[in-house]
Amino acid sequence: MTKKWISRNCDDCEAKEGELHKMGCSVEMCSICGRQLISCGHVSQDGEYKKLLFRVPYVRVPNICALCGEQWPQVFKVAQATWKKYVIPELQHTVLCRECYEELKRMFPEGWRNVINV
Ligand SMILES: [Zn+2]
Ligand SMILES: [Zn+2]
Ligand SMILES: [Zn+2]
Repeated sequence: MTKKWISRNCDDCEAKEGELHKMGCSVEMCSICGRQLISCGHVSQDGEYKKLLFRVPYVRVPNICALCGEQWPQVFKVAQATWKKYVIPELQHTVLCRECYEELKRMFPEGWRNVINV
């Protein structure tokens, strides 16, 4: 079986999925409180992880397009006002791939606020 999600190494310390982060990595989560390990206070200044029962290995949850489920869609920029014009409220705070965004524009050429049933 090949893994179904697409992996990326840690943006900060380059750890591979399934491995522990390097000491001091800003991405590592605290297994006690769930916050950022280097700032939550559960690890001492000199970088000792003694007080922690477990360290959390790195697994990256992919960004996915909320409509088609594509993993790691290419990032694109649109003006906030344009985004809100074509993307319905339910999807405004999600990630969309370019094609799905363009599809919404085709669906609502005047923006979703101007859809009326005839
Ligand atoms: Zn890391
Ligand atoms: Zn903590
Ligand atoms: Zn999509």
